[in-house]
Amino acid sequence: MTGFSDIFLRCPRIEIDLGKVYRNTKLLRQMFQAQGISMMGVTKGVLGSPPVAAAMTAAGVGFLADSRIENLKKIKEAGINNTRVLIRTPSMSKVKQVVTYADISFNSELPVIRLLSDEARAQNKIHRIVLMVDLGDLREGILPDQMAQAIDSLRSFEGIKLIGIGTNLGCVGAVLPDQEKMDELSRIATTLESRFNLCFDLISGGNSANYPWVNKTDRVGRVNNLRIGEMIFTGNNTIDYARIDQLETNTSCLVAEVIEVKEKDSLPCGTICTDAFGEVPVFSDRGRIRRGILEIGRQDVLTQGLTPVGDMEIIGSSSDHVIVDLKATMVKVGETVRFHLTYGALLSAMTSPYIEPVYLNEGSYP
Ligand SMILES: *Cc1c(COP(=O)(O)O)cnc(C)c1O
Repeated sequence: MTGFSDIFLRCPRIEIDLGKVYRNTKLLRQMFQAQGISMMGVTKGVLGSPPVAAAMTAAGVGFLADSRIENLKKIKEAGINNTRVLIRTPSMSKVKQVVTYADISFNSELPVIRLLSDEARAQNKIHRIVLMVDLGDLREGILPDQMAQAIDSLRSFEGIKLIGIGTNLGCVGAVLPDQEKMDELSRIATTLESRFNLCFDLISGGNSANYPWVNKTDRVGRVNNLRIGEMIFTGNNTIDYARIDQLETNTSCLVAEVIEVKEKDSLPCGTICTDAFGEVPVFSDRGRIRRGILEIGRQDVLTQGLTPVGDMEIIGSSSDHVIVDLKATMVKVGETVRFHLTYGALLSAMTSPYIEPVYLNEGSYP
């Protein structure tokens, strides 16, 4: 057990095990490499945390990717030496930061690419871009039959260099990145290359949702890159949430302090109306139980994504409280309860200004 002084200084905290991040990143990178596929380490789940970016870099990924330019700025300013990739299509209002802090950006709008080109020329740089093609997930991307026209139009932009194409599936539309979709991406790449006499460096096929495909396929085709975030942190296949054998789970852990422990009924007493979030809560009758209240809430973290470590159960939450049935677990006021987190819970906890990130094993990976 940690001492009280430590608890009082650093609660609630999110512990991130950099040794696990390093090992998961390295293992995935090697698995993909065996298929001829390079990997980008995606840092958005931890808000571009420099210690995490450094662990991923040490594990050998040749790119750090994030959806927020602010996070790439943080990584650059921390002095981490790796290629920085902006994987959300840039906004017009941020082209200056994009050219300054990202080496490569993913794009789908010509007016934005034109501004990137102008800004790159002003900064005396060549900004590299990847053009996104929408293969049916209906998030970002140019439709396949409009790719040629887009490339034709951007050929005159002198500040940018088109280095490849990419797609994103398994997100908004939850379309499975399967062999058919990856074949389509390969075909599009080959057609565009021959039409414009280009040779793409990057054909970026997707995210963690591509794992089942890449694991099984004997035909990666032209796909030579994937962008991986969630799997590094959860160790799970994001399609069916099955564990992947060699990967470590629970790279992060939320630690919160207990602020009340009382034996009370499990059912509220009185006329039930709506709760703090406008919903009518449903409770099961477990008789009298030991209820612990923790100093975190929905303002800090996606509470549905928390699993307590030990024999306890979350039975309710409000903006500033999480209530657990402590069962037979003997936790006292002032002590802490630990939680494992889903990727969504990790992202939300990292975003809370009330939760302090604490890094474990910083010195113990290569
Ligand atoms: C978030 C994101 C990724 C990473 O997705 P994971 O499921 O976390 O691996 C890859 N590409 C794009 C464009 C993204 O926005």
